[in-house]
Amino acid sequence: MAGRMAAYTGDTDTSGETPEAASDGGARRDEAVRAAVEQGLVDPDTPIIGLLDITGIRSSAAALRTAFEAVVAPGTPVLHAFAVKATPLVPVLRLLHEEGIGAEVASAGELALARAAGVPPSRTVLDSPAKTPAELREAMALGIAVNADNPQELARIDGLVQSATTRSPLGLRVNPQVGGGSIEALSTATATSKFGVALRDGGAREWVVRAYLDRPWLTRLHAHSGSQGMPLELMARGVAETYGLAEEINERAGRRQIDTLDIGGGLPVNYASDTQSPTYAEYARLLDRTVPGLFDGRYGLVTEFGRSLLAKHGVVLARVEYAKTAGGRAIAVTHAGVQVAARTVYAPASWPLRVGAYDAKGHPKSGPAVVQNVAGPACFAGDLLAEGRALPLLEQGDYAAALDTGAYYFAHHYAYNSLPRPGIYGFGPDGEGGVRFATVRTPQTLEEIVAESGGRHAGRLSEL
Ligand SMILES: *Cc1c(COP(=O)(O)O)cnc(C)c1O
Repeated sequence: MAGRMAAYTGDTDTSGETPEAASDGGARRDEAVRAAVEQGLVDPDTPIIGLLDITGIRSSAAALRTAFEAVVAPGTPVLHAFAVKATPLVPVLRLLHEEGIGAEVASAGELALARAAGVPPSRTVLDSPAKTPAELREAMALGIAVNADNPQELARIDGLVQSATTRSPLGLRVNPQVGGGSIEALSTATATSKFGVALRDGGAREWVVRAYLDRPWLTRLHAHSGSQGMPLELMARGVAETYGLAEEINERAGRRQIDTLDIGGGLPVNYASDTQSPTYAEYARLLDRTVPGLFDGRYGLVTEFGRSLLAKHGVVLARVEYAKTAGGRAIAVTHAGVQVAARTVYAPASWPLRVGAYDAKGHPKSGPAVVQNVAGPACFAGDLLAEGRALPLLEQGDYAAALDTGAYYFAHHYAYNSLPRPGIYGFGPDGEGGVRFATVRTPQTLEEIVAESGGRHAGRLSEL
C-alpha cells in the first residue's frame, strides 16, 4: 500500500477520500499491470497498451442507474445514453448496453459504432451541431431520437417529417447560457457557445416556444450545459432553466407536449486521486433539490454521461525505453505521449494526469520521489505526459502508467509521427485470484498505417 501511494505523488487532493473507494480501483489496476507484464501483453516489442477495468465500468454503470432510481418517481422512463465520443470502442458500447446504458451519438461514425455494438435505435440519441441531410434521414428512418441544434436544422426536420412517417422522438437543443466552467473549450453554456438555440438572446425564448406550438410532434427538450471543469451547481442551473422552459411551453400548449427532458451529461471527473468525486448520487440529489418537479414522473428523462462512466477505468501502460538527464532533470522517455494523450500534452495546465511508476516486472515502484519529466516518443519538445513530477525514479525497462485515461485519451488516437494506435485490452478477475484479459482493439499494424496514409495512391501525384 505504501509503495503504491508513493507511486502516485501526482495526487494533490485526497480530502474526504474513503480508503475503500480509494483502494479498489487502484488495487485492481496494480494487479492488471503486473498480469499484463507477466502475460506478455506489453514487452520490449509491444511497448504500449491501453487497459480497461471491466469491474470498474460495470460498477460505474450501476452507480448511474441506482443514483437516478433513488430520486425519480417509480415508472418514470429513464434512458441513460452513454456519450460515445468519450470512448468510441464497440466492445465498450456492448458492455454498457448489457448494463442498461444506451448510446448518445454525434456523427455517422458514432452511430455505426453503436449499431455494431447492438444498441437498438430505441436506446440511441443523435446530437451533433452539424448533421447532414443524409444523417438526419437515416436516423429518422431508423427511429433514433434526434435533437435539432438550430432553426435551420429544425427546418430540415420539418421537411423529413412531412415526407415520411418516423418513430423518432424529436427535440430541440437549447443553450441556457448559464455560463462556463474552468475549461473554456468544454464549456457549452457560455453566451457565445456554438451549441443549441441561445435561450437568452433577444427574441430566442419566444421563438423556441412558437417552434413547439407550431410543431405538435416536437416532444423533447435538450440541453448539455458543460463537461469537465463545470461546477455541479452551474450544471444544475442549466437543467433548471431547461425544465422551466418545458413547463412554459407545455402551459402555453395547454397539454403535456414536451414529455421527455434530455439533461445531457458532463459530470466532472476527479483526476487527482482514485476517488470518484463527485458521484452520480450527489448530482442526482442536487438536481432533485434544485429542480423540484423534474423527477416527479411527468417527464421521461434522458441523460448523456460520457467521461464519468469511463475515465477512471482506463490506464495507458508504456515502457520506459530510455532514462536520461538534461540540465539536471531526470527524463524518462516512454512510449506514451501525444498520440494517446493529446489534451494533456497540448494543454497540460487544464489536463494534468497522474502517472504511476511500475518496475520492469509490473510491480509498483517505491523509493524516494524524484522530480522528473515523463516524456513521450513524439518528435517535438512538448511531448510530455508530466513535467517536473515527483515520482519514484523511472529507469530503463520500467513502466509508466497514465491513469484515468479511459475516456478521451487512448481511444482518441492522434497520428503524430505515424505512431500506431496501441492495442486495448479489458481486464477482469479470472475466478482463481488472477487477472484475465480480453481484446478490445488490436494494435494498428504498419500495413494499416501505410494504407490509411494513401499507400494505394503512391504514384498519383506524379500524374498531375
Ligand atoms: C460530450 C457530450 C456529452 C458527454 O459529456 P461528458 O463530459 O463526457 O460527460 C453529452 N452530451 C453531449 C451533447 C455532448 O456533446
